[in-house]
Amino acid sequence: MAKTIQAIRGMNDCLPTETPVWQWVESKVRSTLASYGYSEIRMPIVENTPLFARAIGEVTDVVSKEMFTFNDRDNESLTLRPEGTAGCVRAGIEHGLLYNQEQRLWYMGPMFRYERPQKGRYRQFHQAGVEVFGIANAEIDAELIILTARLWKELGIEQHVTLQLNSIGSLEARANYRSALVEFLQQYVGLMNEEEKERLLKNPLRILDTKNEALQQALNNAPKLLDYLDDDSREHFARLCAILDNVGISYEINPKLVRGLDYYNKTVFEWVTTALGAQGTICGGGRYDGLVEQLGGHATCGVGFAMGLERLILLVQEVNKAIPLPQSAVDIYLIFAGENTASAAFRLAEKVRSELPHLRTMMHCSGGNFKKQFKRADKSGAKIALVIGESEVQNQQVVVKDLLGGAEQQTVALEAVIDHLKTSFKE
Ligand code: ATP
Ligand code: MG
Repeated sequence: MAKTIQAIRGMNDCLPTETPVWQWVESKVRSTLASYGYSEIRMPIVENTPLFARAIGEVTDVVSKEMFTFNDRDNESLTLRPEGTAGCVRAGIEHGLLYNQEQRLWYMGPMFRYERPQKGRYRQFHQAGVEVFGIANAEIDAELIILTARLWKELGIEQHVTLQLNSIGSLEARANYRSALVEFLQQYVGLMNEEEKERLLKNPLRILDTKNEALQQALNNAPKLLDYLDDDSREHFARLCAILDNVGISYEINPKLVRGLDYYNKTVFEWVTTALGAQGTICGGGRYDGLVEQLGGHATCGVGFAMGLERLILLVQEVNKAIPLPQSAVDIYLIFAGENTASAAFRLAEKVRSELPHLRTMMHCSGGNFKKQFKRADKSGAKIALVIGESEVQNQQVVVKDLLGGAEQQTVALEAVIDHLKTSFKE
């Protein structure tokens, strides 16, 4: 036998046993977004590398070490998208969707990051993301949070997630804060590993979410970003908190929450869970008012979030034992044997599918006697078997057998079979 080839590390197959829960979660995401009037946008999976470098920032983890980047045959540098915001903004500018307009957009699909694979962290993973353009008010930040809270309820996970909120202010406020933080951190260089020392130089705000406990302790006395906010950001944040208070969404203000990407300003938020171990963030987002202009469009404000579907599904499976998933893929199993029965069987199967499209009809295609075929019918999980033999073809009939109820099989006239099935599946 030839040597087998395996999937790429960190890139998972989603097997037929797992697709029902994926479809269920995806349909909840779609219906929730539709109920807020959001429109779907689909972008390519590959973009020119400079798009991500410019949008996300050269010194971020994502760009500096996590991207799948390669040269195509013309030596253009291309990258498998590590997130959706950059591509969405690129598409919005390219097609004139953003300037002087309001857009509420969503997308869902695979993202790629070269990370160490572990539970809840993969190299190909999936996100559902939302991006809203052209609305500057805190009301829209609140809408996004309210929308996600509704989705958690739909998924039955609302008791297991908490909302963390922060404001990282304007670019200028952040620059002021950055200097104060760097000055404060100088006295703790001794506690830092090489990576943290590098962050101190290049991206000091990222030190705030370090896993280094001694450094975390020290950071409790660090200057707080919230104290450095500009008036506009401060008012925006107060308004957002007031709306969330009014609608009864609880949150925790986390002054150390800065998010990993460069493009954020003002509001940042994460929904986190303790049920999944280290990979606890299921959804993260924030405002990015400068990004459209930074990518060459007319200045247009933006706000969005992305949720990791793998982590959401792990959480759903962990805490929601009542997911209404289909138990089998088949409702009706059609078997046939004998001269001239195949064409009658095909005609009947197509007729059932046309007239009862909500039922799933599987036709037995691999031959054998009725005994063997009935075994297959039982195994399929179908409720009803339809049986066609030579005498049924001659008499324009079909035998109907209830596989689950144990009732006697019945012979039904071909023209009455649809009505018969309607009754069987009403019960
Ligand atoms: P983390 O801190 O866990 O690395 P992140 O801040 O890099 O997350 P974002 O860029 O904000 O993540 O992406 C939004 C969401 O996408 C995350 O909250 C998470 O649910 C999911 N996600 C990010 N990276 C991965 C990955 N490698 N595998 C699976 N899901 C991921
Ligand atoms: Mg990450």
